[in-house]
Amino acid sequence: MVSFDEARRIILESVRPAGTERVQLLDAAGRVLSEDVVAPWDMPLWDNSAMDGYAVRSEDCTNTPCSLRVTGFLPAGAKADGITVEPGCAIRIMTGAPTPSGCDAVVPVEETDNGLREVALLEPVKKGQHIRFRAEDVTCGTVFIRRGTRIRPPEVNMLAGFGMALVPVFRRPVVAILSTGDELVELGRTPEAGEIINSNALSIAAAVQDVGGIPRVIGIARDTRESHLEKLAEGLKADALITSAGVSAGDCDLVRDVLKELGAQQLFWKVGIKPGGPTAFALYGTTPVFSLPGNPVSTMITFEEFVRPALFRMQGLHHVLRPYFNAVMRDAQKKKPGKVQIVRVRLEKEGGRWYATSAGNQQTAILRTMVDAQALAVLPAERTDVAVGDEVQVHFYGNYIELESQ
Ligand code: AMP
Ligand code: MG
Repeated sequence: MVSFDEARRIILESVRPAGTERVQLLDAAGRVLSEDVVAPWDMPLWDNSAMDGYAVRSEDCTNTPCSLRVTGFLPAGAKADGITVEPGCAIRIMTGAPTPSGCDAVVPVEETDNGLREVALLEPVKKGQHIRFRAEDVTCGTVFIRRGTRIRPPEVNMLAGFGMALVPVFRRPVVAILSTGDELVELGRTPEAGEIINSNALSIAAAVQDVGGIPRVIGIARDTRESHLEKLAEGLKADALITSAGVSAGDCDLVRDVLKELGAQQLFWKVGIKPGGPTAFALYGTTPVFSLPGNPVSTMITFEEFVRPALFRMQGLHHVLRPYFNAVMRDAQKKKPGKVQIVRVRLEKEGGRWYATSAGNQQTAILRTMVDAQALAVLPAERTDVAVGDEVQVHFYGNYIELESQ
């Protein structure tokens, strides 16, 4: 058995990006930059007005209130070439318009009488005020977004602002998803006694999609060596393979043996985590193989804690864990030392502190509390019983929080 932290370390050290490609900017949203991006020009490219108002020479306005003659108009989109603010004059200017020569300050319209031929300036004027200076945001030739950054709307905005229609990103890994077990039937059939719908394949596929991978559901390996050989070999052609079930110590648990037979090297089997203990991890060449337990709650929790960060890392992302924070437990939890225990909780914020309440029945067969959980509390291995009022570490799991709890 490896510890929770050791399992994560082994996995994250074993996976690497599947390659890079150039894609249209909007398709790059949510993905990770594979190169540092250098500014092809200054941003902004020219000095421009930050307000609707008047472009002035600050030396003309040392004693306000004062009055200036309005000699021109510069709306956004206009060119300021050949336009000058002469001494004693002002040019009416709109936000975003280039500042004319001679101008070293912009007076907001709210601080004037809004005059069209003559304008009265009512407030003191400081040199440089309300001007956005050339290169104030980014200087031409400098890196403005680093490789390994996830592309969110702010990055999209900046990349677009620099005219980058094609963006270098890490490839989305193709992830094969294989279920195992004679009891499984595919969605669309009503299960009879002894049968279970292959729900894991779909929830794993949804989770893969959620982190930016491309899920390839490849069906069910039946509980025979031949069926496992055929389906596992098919799965090993992808960038990563996730199996569910057949990885415990049961008579029909064949996944690990057959993976070994196919030439995969097992890096660990059994992790100090509850639920999810029987998880195994192997490498087939450089292809990671995550063998998750079959119980849907265990499958989802081990995906969340081990596979999700790995798939992020395979897309070149450096920071791959959800942020943790402290919460005060509102109910007691039984716990033996030795394994990390994951508790499904709901969250509330009161008086500036987060409080966590058990989402209900924590047994691995209970799916409903997985649906109800807003966060997962991660109780460290060495920890024993948790009492009401104890602080625990939690991280969000999916759902957002009610406004009243913010
Ligand atoms: P096993 O590891 O094969 O003993 O499976 C553990 C438990 O997970 C059993 O109750 C299985 O019926 C259940 N299970 C296995 N595979 C799936 C699946 N693909 N979808 C939903 N439940 C599953
Ligand atoms: Mg089975």
